[in-house]
Amino acid sequence: MIFRQLFERESSTYSYLIGCQETHTAILIDAVKSETPKYLQLLAELDLSLIYVLDTHTHADHITGAGALRDATDCITLLGKEAGSACVSQTLQDGDQIPVGTLTLTAIYTPGHTDDSYSYLLDNAGQTYVFTGDTLLIRGTGRTDFQNGNAQDQYQSLFTKLLTLPDSTWVYPAHDYKGWLVSTIAEEKAHNPRLQVKNLADYVALMNNLKLPDPTLMDIAVPANRACGK
Ligand code: FE
Repeated sequence: MIFRQLFERESSTYSYLIGCQETHTAILIDAVKSETPKYLQLLAELDLSLIYVLDTHTHADHITGAGALRDATDCITLLGKEAGSACVSQTLQDGDQIPVGTLTLTAIYTPGHTDDSYSYLLDNAGQTYVFTGDTLLIRGTGRTDFQNGNAQDQYQSLFTKLLTLPDSTWVYPAHDYKGWLVSTIAEEKAHNPRLQVKNLADYVALMNNLKLPDPTLMDIAVPANRACGK
């Protein structure tokens, strides 16, 4: 497996390139439009052809690279069916499998940050990886106060889905603002302050009292992302 974690500074977004060495095919998760030339260069250098680009959800803080990458490579773009995007190549639902050569990603519907939030699970050589979008962050969780966010749904996504994955699973989020790169399920269970709640009601109270400002790009990014970043 070829694996690269890529960083976009302005929105502190992580994008992930996962490639199959045997078939020279690759997928990009949460690509940022402004970084498109960098992705195309890296794909060429690693001798990979891009077959899928997927987003974990409709982002409010940056513009997706999905449309630009599809124009450049003829790849298939994927997004959860709840996103209601008219231009996406294919929609995903819970349990869908995405084959990338000898590798397979499994979509897990994890609403809460938005109603179109998905996480993606990958198993390679006995190690599991989960790409959690903004559902589970390192020592945090994504806000639930806009884009049909719902703290109750997020609690269920976290406690009945993501935290039931093996403790050793690598956790790769869509963002980090402090420079953390990766975590594990065990580490987040033990040390993520948002996960130390007693029950659903405590989690909802915690999330509904964060009083965060809207992201600066939100009014531009959400409509653009519904149009595949165009
Ligand atoms: Fe988000």
